[in-house]
Amino acid sequence: MSQSDSRANVLALYPEDSREAAALLKQAVPLMVRHNIPPNPVHYALWYTYSKGQDPELNRHLDRVVRDFDGCPPESATRLFREYIIRDELEDARAGQQQVISLVDGMERDVSRSVKGSANFQHRLGQCLEMLEEPVSERLPGILNELQQSTRLMQSQQEQFLSQLHSAQNEIKTLRDKLERAQQAATLDGLTELLNRTAFTRLLEQALAKGSRSVALVMLDIDHFKQFNDQYGHPLGDRVLQHVAQVLRSALAPNAFAARYGGEEFCVVLEDCVNLDSACAFAELLRLKVQSLRIKARGTDTVLDTITASFGVAFVQPGDNLESLLTRADDGLYQAKRNGRNQVCAIHKTPELQR
Ligand code: GH3
Ligand code: MG
Ligand code: MG
Repeated sequence: MSQSDSRANVLALYPEDSREAAALLKQAVPLMVRHNIPPNPVHYALWYTYSKGQDPELNRHLDRVVRDFDGCPPESATRLFREYIIRDELEDARAGQQQVISLVDGMERDVSRSVKGSANFQHRLGQCLEMLEEPVSERLPGILNELQQSTRLMQSQQEQFLSQLHSAQNEIKTLRDKLERAQQAATLDGLTELLNRTAFTRLLEQALAKGSRSVALVMLDIDHFKQFNDQYGHPLGDRVLQHVAQVLRSALAPNAFAARYGGEEFCVVLEDCVNLDSACAFAELLRLKVQSLRIKARGTDTVLDTITASFGVAFVQPGDNLESLLTRADDGLYQAKRNGRNQVCAIHKTPELQR
């Protein structure tokens, strides 16, 4: 995609005319002032979009952040900006990176071929030189001498070329590794190394697009986590998130993937699930594993506390799309919280009946 196409895409998010845009800014700025938000383009974009209300999820997220942090820390702002404002552009960048990787792969293949060809050529030149050094007839010494010298020159040039090819090959390998690492970083959550929300959403969309009848979604949220952070501090809270991520990772079947969906919210997708009951049984297993985690003081065996999580489960039904499946799992989760937390709830209704 060209740069101007991608610019046109970002602008498509904001079709308002000047009058409407000014009205939205008039709402956004006082909110930013009230929450002590520094006036920079990232925050303007977030709070403008917030005032527009086009993405309720963003609004909930921002509300939560300003409530928890009494402001908006730069890491949260950056994460929200990536997840909600420039998500499509990041997708384009990912596709671009994939193209570069393919290009680099092609170059590497060509260079490898050249290296092999050059090595053969060098070997032949060596053989020629040996032949030229054998005694020659009286009639040809001048010509052969010249030939010998130019062959030597060619051989040394060939050696130089070979060494240049070798270093090009190494540079290409390094570039490829860097690109792969960058691509991985763009799909993983930095703290838990599970998939991030953007990558997760893309994979779930792909799973649903296949029209499979065996997709289940488990959504979980740690109970009273704010209280935990308040009592033990954010760093230990972060470690708890890593432990929960590990529980999910270790329980994954081959055709399943897990993600950090939000702050202390996680999702697991089972692509080969038999029915809603077996998805609930899987969620129950996770619930027990989370409940049996022992949160210890760093570097000691002293158990400080335990945690629990609430689970919402949804199983794909005809007519489902990403949003309806997520909403059903979220409704189940909400139900689990309302029923007293530390439990699994599933919404059985069909999407049609829900409306
Ligand atoms: P509930 O049982 O209703 O889910 O209560 P809760 O306290 O878990 O829910 P609430 O949404 O009120 O608070 C979520 C907390 O998660 C608040 C925030 O400090 C914490 N949190 C979100 N992201 C992170 C993070 O990356 N690290 C840490 N340590 N805490 C986080
Ligand atoms: Mg939550
Ligand atoms: Mg919670």
